Amino acid sequence: MFNIILFGPPGSGKGTQSEKLIAKYNLKHLSTGDLLRSEIANGTPLGLEAKKLMDAGQLVPDEVVVGMISSALDANQQVNGFLFDGFPRTTAQAEALDKLLKLKGTEIGVVLALEVSDAELVKRLLNRGLTSGRSDDTNETVISNRIVEYKNKTAIVADYYKKFDKARAIKGEGTLDEIFDALSKEIDLRQSEK
Ligand code: ADP
Repeated sequence: MFNIILFGPPGSGKGTQSEKLIAKYNLKHLSTGDLLRSEIANGTPLGLEAKKLMDAGQLVPDEVVVGMISSALDANQQVNGFLFDGFPRTTAQAEALDKLLKLKGTEIGVVLALEVSDAELVKRLLNRGLTSGRSDDTNETVISNRIVEYKNKTAIVADYYKKFDKARAIKGEGTLDEIFDALSKEIDLRQSEK
């Protein structure tokens, strides 16, 4: 198994690049944002609780997202690997993920961190809000709250993986293909080292 974390602030292109990467490397895509939105769409108690936080641009509690990821790992035993998108977002989530993967006899292969300027992030998110149907993409205050949450709680997660020499920074501005090629190159390099 080869497991990848696609890391980066909201609007850095994780979702878009994930779609291309799962097709190329035959991975199972696990996006906590998508999993949470599907809970909301199904009107579950978890979804109702999460919606309030998501609408305010705040993170959902660690136990909630770790529980969702744990179930998703159990439900997908026979896969080539996982692509984690939007998870882990706190150091506690990263530690929990390491434990869950260890129980399955596997680990994170590489963490690819997309780097995009704040001005570009806000521009992309507002633009996505025109068509995404996501209320958290239409309000500039909510967008800036999400970027603040990223800076306060999520950015340090990259340091956690740097300790294990697993994190690689990738320039997240340029054409979709340029970014995809840069991501693929790092994955190929890591896989050949294994
Ligand atoms: P983006 O990264 O573009 O903001 P996501 O779909 O990844 O979009 O996340 C949307 C919202 O879902 C976040 O603002 C947060 O409220 C919640 N969320 C998603 N993943 C997590 C996570 N791992 N931990 C806590 N909250 C999360």
